[in-house]
Amino acid sequence: MLKGKVAIVTGGTRGIGYAIVETFLKNGAKVALMGSRQSTVDAALEKLHSTDPSWDVMGLWPALDDYAEVQLAFDQVREKFGRVDILVNNAGVSAREPIYDYEPDAFKKIMDLNVTAAFLCSKAAAPIMRAEGGGSIINTSSMVSLYGQPSGVGYPTSKFAINGLTKSLARELGKDNIRVNAVAPGVTRTDMVAALPPERVERIAAGIPLGRVGEPQDIANGFLFLASDLASYVTGEILSIDGAAMN
Ligand code: NAD
Repeated sequence: MLKGKVAIVTGGTRGIGYAIVETFLKNGAKVALMGSRQSTVDAALEKLHSTDPSWDVMGLWPALDDYAEVQLAFDQVREKFGRVDILVNNAGVSAREPIYDYEPDAFKKIMDLNVTAAFLCSKAAAPIMRAEGGGSIINTSSMVSLYGQPSGVGYPTSKFAINGLTKSLARELGKDNIRVNAVAPGVTRTDMVAALPPERVERIAAGIPLGRVGEPQDIANGFLFLASDLASYVTGEILSIDGAAMN
């Protein structure tokens, strides 16, 4: 589905991002994954190469909230792979402190990575995609972007902002044939969920109409659709993949 395409995936070292990287590679794309440090990036590359040594994948670890570093990283991707067709803004952090204990710096940290980094990467990608005749930008939102969450206000705030970025950029970049969409996952079995006691996960799953939490592959499948030409007339969409969960 992605033969001949080049993708950049931020936060691609584990969890949902890793599943997206693997799914894109299986579908013929060349992929640049970005993580926060060299050691985790190298470990992800090693794991991917041990799955299939023929996959064309590179790794980078720019500070995603620093535009000069982002631009340099995008230049390196273009140097190696020649183009950029798909950008997945997936890197994200979460926190659940009540507002009474919320450190102002912690709020800024969440916004820097979850929102500013997505803006900066989109800003770096747009002129490249425009020059190539189009592209696809896909952001990782969350089910909490629809109705908030009862603690840790920075995280849902950042995901509401991601939906705004998605819908606004879709309207701005449509004329350049750049589609901009988001996937809003529900509770997904990444390291964060794996750390919860199994009874807690069972309780969460019992409240979800489909009766289970999501797997990273469930989420990656949505990214694959939105990245591919099957979604050629889909833009400005926030695709919920959450088993119809309601918080
Ligand atoms: P994870 O913690 O397993 O992975 C996060 C990824 O972000 C890692 O690859 C990490 O390297 C990267 N990252 C973290 N800080 C970074 C930084 N400063 N610079 C660059 N990269 C950094 O998380 P996940 O559950 O796979 O989440 C991925 C995305 O999905 C996030 O945007 C998250 O908000 C969203 N999401 C997750 C769930 C869930 O239940 N797991 C639900 C809804 C949305």
